[in-house]
Amino acid sequence: MPHLPPATSTAQNTSSDQPLFDLQALKRGEPVLWTASSSRHTAWSEAGAGISQLDVEATVARWRRFAPLLARLFPELQVRDGVIESELLPVPRLQRALGIPQDFGTLLVKADHGLPVAGSVKARGGIHEVLEHAEGLALRHGLLALDGDYRVLAEPAARALFARHQVAVGSTGNLGLAIGVMASALGFRAVVHMSADAKEWKKARLRARGVEVVEHAGDYAEAVAAGRRAALSDPACHFVDDERSRSLFLGYAAAAPHLARQLAALGRRVDAQHPLFVYLPCGVGGAPGGIAFGLAQLFGPHVHCFFAEPTRSPCFLLQMLAGTPGFEFLGDQPSVYDVGLDNRTEADGLAVPCASELAAEVAGPLLGGVYTVEDETLFRLLHAAAVSEELHIEPSAAAGFSGPAMLRDTAAGQAYLERHGLQAHMAAATHIAWTTGGLFVPQDEYARFLARGRDAAARP
Ligand SMILES: *Cc1c(COP(=O)(O)O)cnc(C)c1O
Repeated sequence: MPHLPPATSTAQNTSSDQPLFDLQALKRGEPVLWTASSSRHTAWSEAGAGISQLDVEATVARWRRFAPLLARLFPELQVRDGVIESELLPVPRLQRALGIPQDFGTLLVKADHGLPVAGSVKARGGIHEVLEHAEGLALRHGLLALDGDYRVLAEPAARALFARHQVAVGSTGNLGLAIGVMASALGFRAVVHMSADAKEWKKARLRARGVEVVEHAGDYAEAVAAGRRAALSDPACHFVDDERSRSLFLGYAAAAPHLARQLAALGRRVDAQHPLFVYLPCGVGGAPGGIAFGLAQLFGPHVHCFFAEPTRSPCFLLQMLAGTPGFEFLGDQPSVYDVGLDNRTEADGLAVPCASELAAEVAGPLLGGVYTVEDETLFRLLHAAAVSEELHIEPSAAAGFSGPAMLRDTAAGQAYLERHGLQAHMAAATHIAWTTGGLFVPQDEYARFLARGRDAAARP
């Protein structure tokens, strides 16, 4: 069902360790797959930027400490004991609709499109950073003990402290939603700097919660820079830096231990004979990078993470190329504009011109690869998910669904499977498409997405 490039559109040298990549196809905005060389992938155990599994475990512990408070602050979390998590869903009808044969493995959906409170994967990183900041402030002011009852943070003394502090962020929308909602729920002043491509309904939802929305005419990178500048001049302001934040990254990474338990509960093994493929929609790379890092700590070389980007915003793919022989001309921090792309896409969660340096440093070496998806394909996939499994997702969240076909039906994908000796094990493989957002998309907006997907599906 997804429209795929012919197998030849990504020139790839199958015999050598160093894959070649067709930059011209990427510049033309065609869907492409870049895969890591095997030497890159086996670097999985080297934690970058001083981040380790201990940090992931500390993050899991922090979420646990905050659960009673979260259950008090958000009615929808009461029935979940304050846990912000999503389901891992078998999707056999969608797998058929996508044309992924059983002998290529089993498709599952990690349903972050239904994450409570924020309605997107940003609940993991964004809410975690606000909680870590609040925890630090309350500990420093003697209002909280690490082993105490965190529900005191909903009491007047803590709220008065938070009211004297501001939390700010630059965002294309979803990160702003997560940070804004959590910060305002704790009583912080919350300011969200929004890029021009942020959707109106996201701004309206934030304003309805008392969050200050500052609109910027430029793109995501400019909104972040403006927010960073504004925050620097105010010592009582904590700026959540999507391009550099360790706290965000760890919030995402903490998804991994829970996912491992969900896989076990479904009877899905992960080892050399049972490879795990995870397809993650990518903007700056923080969310997919954190998740990939967390999964690599648990599954080592048996997990193969692929990032998915819009054809016109492939910033992480460029960042991966930039470090490889033959692509030195891209410089250290390439932007999609440098190669003549315009960063325009309906996948607003992924409309990012430059990758996060932190994500590239820590998660880059762990990746299987990065592929791109056309907007029309995103709508087609969004429609397929709705009609086959009643999954209501936003366009960004559909990018993971073309992953299995990118591996199976392109020369680059076949070469990757061959290099890693995976072909004999594909029938026992698990493929996870991470659906990263959708819960709070207004009905009329969603109806338009669906109609566009239906039209795209009807075209030959
Ligand atoms: C932000 C976002 C992503 C990607 O996260 P990054 O950290 O920017 O890479 C993917 N999907 C959705 C819906 C998002 O909002």
